[in-house]
Amino acid sequence: MKKIFLGAPGSGKGTCASKVSPRRNIPHISTGDLFRDNIKNGTEIGDTAKGYMERGELVPDEVVVEMLKERIEEEDCQAGFILDGFPRTIPQAEMLAKITDIDAAINIDVPNEVIIQRLSSRITCKDCGEIFNLRDMRPKEEGICDKCQGEIIRRPDDEPEVIQNRLKTYEEKTAPLIKFYEDRGILKHVSCDQEQPPEEMAQAVLATIEEFSKSLQEEVSGVLGLSDNE
Ligand code: ADP
Ligand code: ZN
Repeated sequence: MKKIFLGAPGSGKGTCASKVSPRRNIPHISTGDLFRDNIKNGTEIGDTAKGYMERGELVPDEVVVEMLKERIEEEDCQAGFILDGFPRTIPQAEMLAKITDIDAAINIDVPNEVIIQRLSSRITCKDCGEIFNLRDMRPKEEGICDKCQGEIIRRPDDEPEVIQNRLKTYEEKTAPLIKFYEDRGILKHVSCDQEQPPEEMAQAVLATIEEFSKSLQEEVSGVLGLSDNE
């Protein structure tokens, strides 16, 4: 169960991943969160990543891949994982293919207007990274995280000028991954036409994952049944 969640910044892939992960019992790995942890802990990776992130640019491929590789080699990832925000470039996807086999890439498709609105009203917990939204997902208590009681802030890269830059980077560098995984036969789309509540989106993603694993199993048993002598 190694899944990738694709989608523009603000598509809701992080929120979906955090809802799907406990239900499928596989860890949710967000490279953005890993970088933010590194920055908080003042590591070398954090120092390298900080400037790129603040400008809404991508951190160089080698840095991300090295960090990701280390993470998925950990014990809790052996049964599978959800990757959120990785890969983000074709070279990253190629490097990932060398490290491990991915069984599905779920593309979360959301109209551009929705994305811009979401990002500009997004707020997150400074401590655990939980995402809230000023419009439709406010924390229960103003300024305080529901999950860990941490302080809620606006991420520096959710400032309007940086949002534009991130969307441009997405179009140029990350959107081509849709075709990359389509060509490999493992792409699934989940579209969210209007402002859909996050729980509904997560349900749609779960249903797609289940349907896909079923069809994959059928395919595998079909192939096995036919090729006894291989
Ligand atoms: P979002 O998906 O909302 O843009 P993330 O938390 O996934 O936010 O990423 C925040 C920032 O971290 C990105 O803008 C980028 O600078 C950096 N980053 C995260 N993942 C990657 C990656 N796979 N490759 C390069 N940079 C990354
Ligand atoms: Zn928190």
